[in-house]
Amino acid sequence: MCSSDLVRRHFVHPLWRGADSRVRRHNHAMPESAVDRPAPAPAAKPLSGPARALQRMGLDQPMALALHLPLRYEDETRLVTVAEARPGQTVLLQLQVRRSQVEQRGRRQLVLRTADESGDEVVLRFLHFYPSQVKAWAEGTWLRARGELRQGFFGREMVHPQVRAAEPDDPLPTALTPVYPAGAQLPQAYLRKAVAGGLARADLAEVLPPGTVPRGLPSLREALQFLHHPPPGTAMATLEDHSHPAWQRLKFEELLAQQLSQQQARAEREVLRAPVLTVREGALRDGLLAALPWGLTGAQRRVAEEIAADLARPSPMHRLLQGDVGAGKTVVAALAACVAMDAGWQCALMAPTEILAEQHFQKLVQWLSPLGIQVAWLSGSRKGKVRREQLAAIAEGRARLVVGTHAVIQDDVHFQRLGLAIVDEQHRFGVAQRLALRHKLRGQTEAGEPLEPHLLMMSATPIPRTLAMTYYADLEVSTIDELPPGRSPIVTRVFAESRRDEVVARIRDEVAKGRQVYWVCPLVEASEAEDMAGRSMAELANVTETHAQLAATLEGIGVGLLHGRLAPADKAAVMARFAGGELAVLVATTVIEVGVDVPNASLMVIEHAERFGLAQLHQLRGRVGRGAVESVCVLLFTQPLSETGKSRLRAMAETTDGFEIARRDLELRGPGEFMGARQSGDALLRFADLAEDAPLLAAARQAAPRLLGAHPEAAARHVRRWLGAGAEFLKA
Ligand code: ADP
Ligand code: MG
Repeated sequence: MCSSDLVRRHFVHPLWRGADSRVRRHNHAMPESAVDRPAPAPAAKPLSGPARALQRMGLDQPMALALHLPLRYEDETRLVTVAEARPGQTVLLQLQVRRSQVEQRGRRQLVLRTADESGDEVVLRFLHFYPSQVKAWAEGTWLRARGELRQGFFGREMVHPQVRAAEPDDPLPTALTPVYPAGAQLPQAYLRKAVAGGLARADLAEVLPPGTVPRGLPSLREALQFLHHPPPGTAMATLEDHSHPAWQRLKFEELLAQQLSQQQARAEREVLRAPVLTVREGALRDGLLAALPWGLTGAQRRVAEEIAADLARPSPMHRLLQGDVGAGKTVVAALAACVAMDAGWQCALMAPTEILAEQHFQKLVQWLSPLGIQVAWLSGSRKGKVRREQLAAIAEGRARLVVGTHAVIQDDVHFQRLGLAIVDEQHRFGVAQRLALRHKLRGQTEAGEPLEPHLLMMSATPIPRTLAMTYYADLEVSTIDELPPGRSPIVTRVFAESRRDEVVARIRDEVAKGRQVYWVCPLVEASEAEDMAGRSMAELANVTETHAQLAATLEGIGVGLLHGRLAPADKAAVMARFAGGELAVLVATTVIEVGVDVPNASLMVIEHAERFGLAQLHQLRGRVGRGAVESVCVLLFTQPLSETGKSRLRAMAETTDGFEIARRDLELRGPGEFMGARQSGDALLRFADLAEDAPLLAAARQAAPRLLGAHPEAAARHVRRWLGAGAEFLKA
C-alpha cells in the first residue's frame, strides 16, 4: 500500500466520500479494525511528496491539522446549467466529455469538448496537463468543472477550470469548500482530506468549565467544524476579517493558553531563589560609565535602573529589554553584566549569529578589559586547545564574562557561578535553544540551596509597551524609546533598478568622503522545485556576481564579500577588515541583518528590496545611521511591484520608527504569511491579533487566575491541548 492510500484510509471525511467513491470501495475491502490501527512509524517507509510536505509544515497530528484554517472558501454547493450561467461568472457545471484532444493552438493544450445534461456545449482548455489526466477525462466521462465561464472564439469555454470526476447523481458538498495555506508539492485535495481527517480524529471535547469563555461564543468543536466547512450563505466578510464568533472562540482559546502558561510560569519562578546582585558604588559599573566617550540617554538610564532593581531581588529576573535598532541596548547589557561581576558572579551573553557574537565580544573587551575583566569567547568554530583553555577559565571563574553563540550552552560548558544570562535578539533563537539555555543555567547552588540565574532578553522587534505588558504575563518589559543624540535621521530613497549606475556613482562619492557602504543582495525567491539548499546556492551565485561586478567597477576601492557559506573564521576576517576601514564597501547577504555595528557606514543599498519583508528591511537599514554622519538607505526595486511590495517600500520611505514599522507590518501581512513568520520564530500568536483583540486578551488574562485556582486540572488540559511540548518554550 502506498502512503497516500494510508492517508486516505485514515483521513476520509464523510464530506468527501461522494466525490471520491473509489476510496470508499477500496476501504470497504478492508477489515474494519485495520482502519483504526495507528499508522506505522514514519521511518518504516519513505513518505510520499505530499506527506512529507505535511510533515514539514508541522501538520502531522490531528490537532495541528484541525487548527490549519482555510485562507478562503469556494462555493461548490450549487450546480448551474450552461444556459443559466452568464459569461464572466465563476460557476460549477456538471459536464460530460464528448471529445478529448491534445491540440496545437499556438501552444500545446488539452481541449475537452463537453456538454451538460441538456446538451449545451462548453469547451474546457488546459495548458498544463498530465498524461494521466488525458486518460482519466476520456470521452463519456462525467466531470464537475468549476471556473470562470467565458464567451470564446469557438463558443463558451473555461480555461483551466478545477475539474474532478463525478456522476450527475453524486451528492454535492453541503458546505463551502475550504482553500488552505499550502506549500509547493501539497495539492489542495490532499490537504483537504488530511485536514478533514484531523478534524474528525482530534480530541475537541470541552475542557473549560462553564463561565470561562465569553458569552455568545460556540464550543471549540463547533467553531472548528464551522470554520472548515461553513454552510452556504455564511457572510464571508466575518470570516475574512476574523470577527465571526467561531474565530473569536479560537482566538480566546489561544490567548487563554498563553496567559495560563505564562501566569503559571511566573508563579513557579517566584518561589525560586536567585543571587542578590546589588550595585556597588565605585566598582566596575561606575568604571565603565566613566570610561564611555558619551553619557547614557535618559531612556538608557531608566532601563538600567529597572534592571538593577530586579537584580537586587532574591527571585530570578525575567525581563525583556526592547528598543529600536541602534537604540543602544548593548551598553545597558554591559552595565547589567558589571553589576553581576561586581557582586562576584559570572555573566553569559549569547547572540544568535557568530558575526553578532564576535561584535559583542570585541565591544565588551574594549570596554571591560581596561577594567581588568577577562572576557571569554565561545563559538562553534573555536575548537581544540583554545576552546579547552576557555572552558577551564569559565569553570574556574577566571573568565567572568562569557560571550558567544549557542556554543555557550553546550554540555561541556560549566560555569563556576553564573549569576546573569543575557540573550540578544532572543526571538532569533529556536525553541530548542531557548529551552536548552533555561535548563543549562539552572542549578547553581549557594550553601546547598539551588539558585537560578537572572535572565535578560533583548529584542529590536518592538511591540507597544502596554500590549507587551499584558501579553507577556511572565515577563517584565523595559523599553528604550529614545535614540542616542546626534544621530542624523536616515534618509530612505526608493529607486528603480534602471538607476543602478547613479547608485554606484554615489558609492564613489561616499567612499571619497571616507565613509563606508553596505550593498545587500536579494533574497532569492524559492521556486517550487527548489528547497532551502537550492535557494541558498542561488543566493550565493547572486552575491558573488554582484561582488565581482562592483569590484570591477569600483576600481581602487576595497570591496569585501560576506555570505553565510563562508567559514566562520573567514566571515570574522572580512568583518574585521570592514570594521577597521580597510574595506570601504561590503557586499553581503542578509547575514549582516542582525546587530552589525560599524558607525562609519553611511550608505546602505538593498537590491531587489521588494523581496524583503518590512521588518527585515528595517533591520537592514538600521546598520547605517549609527554615528553622527548623515546616512542614506537606497532601496532598489525591480518591476513588477505587487501592491504589498509597493506599500512596504512606501512605509520604509515614510518612517524610521520601529514601532510604526511593526504596526504597518502587521497590517500588511496577510493571513497566508503566518506560516513563514512562524518558522522564523517571529510570530507571537497564530490566531489572535494583539492590537485588534485587546478585549479578548483582557478576558483571557482575567479568566486565567480563576482557572488556575479553582480548576487546575482543566487549566493543565487546556494548556496541553494548545501548546503541547511548546508550553515550556513560553517559560524559557
Ligand atoms: P542596538 O540597540 O541596536 O543593539 P547598539 O547597542 O549596537 O544598538 O548601539 C548602537 C550604537 O550607538 C553603538 O555604536 C553604540 O556604541 C552607540 N551608543 C549607544 N549608546 C549611546 C549613547 N548614549 N550616546 C551615543 N552613542 C551611543
Ligand atoms: Mg544590538
